[in-house]
Amino acid sequence: MPARDPTILALDFDGVVCDGMAEYFVAAWRTWRRLRPSVGLDPPRGLVDRFARVRPVVETGWEMPLLIMALLAGVSEAEILERWRPNAFLAELGRARDEITAVLDSVRDEWIAADEADWLDHHRFYPGAIERLRRLANGPTRIVVVTTKEGRFAQKLLFRQGVDLGAEDVYGKEAQRPKPVILRELIEPSSTARSLWFVEDRLKTLDAVKRAPALDDVGLFLAGWGYNTARDREEARRDDRIVLLSLEQFGGDFPTWVEA
Ligand SMILES: [Mg+2]
Repeated sequence: MPARDPTILALDFDGVVCDGMAEYFVAAWRTWRRLRPSVGLDPPRGLVDRFARVRPVVETGWEMPLLIMALLAGVSEAEILERWRPNAFLAELGRARDEITAVLDSVRDEWIAADEADWLDHHRFYPGAIERLRRLANGPTRIVVVTTKEGRFAQKLLFRQGVDLGAEDVYGKEAQRPKPVILRELIEPSSTARSLWFVEDRLKTLDAVKRAPALDDVGLFLAGWGYNTARDREEARRDDRIVLLSLEQFGGDFPTWVEA
């Protein structure tokens, strides 16, 4: 991979730029209570920590209340990390994923409407990440956020930090296309040579990009500070294409990302 600065830097949001673990858990718990109204008001002690440890398996938000369902049903963390099958829990619950998504999004919208400051307080940004984005905002590299979250939530969080990305630079769940398809669209329209680097904290997503056609030149980086396991990071370290990135590197200039 050439060390020249990329034309486009595509960033996943959760686990790369923003640590919203506190928010994910509260939103997931409230969603779970709406799906199962008989559940008590407060989550059992320690559930938040168990949830945080298995969070690396989540691709999209609708899986989060199902993680709570699995943990409460006594499925072990190891079992979840090895073989997460959200569709089995979906079937047991008797709900469609779109229904759960709609409940989760309305939980978030109602939370923001009721107390936006409290919602924002449940997120933190990784040290140096916002500063890095602000520095890039005035440079030649275009920043694009590619997230499975609703784009407006990511946009709002970034805007409050002084990073004002337009809707055309935030690809959220509403785009309804898998990340490899979005990445292909980002490099397609140009006839001139473009380089695209993609930073993501979920190894399976990077693997999907590796398998996708026409994305062979995309630089792939696993955010080692995000929601992944030691095993994921080890796999990335051994991978001949994926680069395991540290938060320190992320905060530095592009050439340091690909230094051996
Ligand atoms: Mg992520």
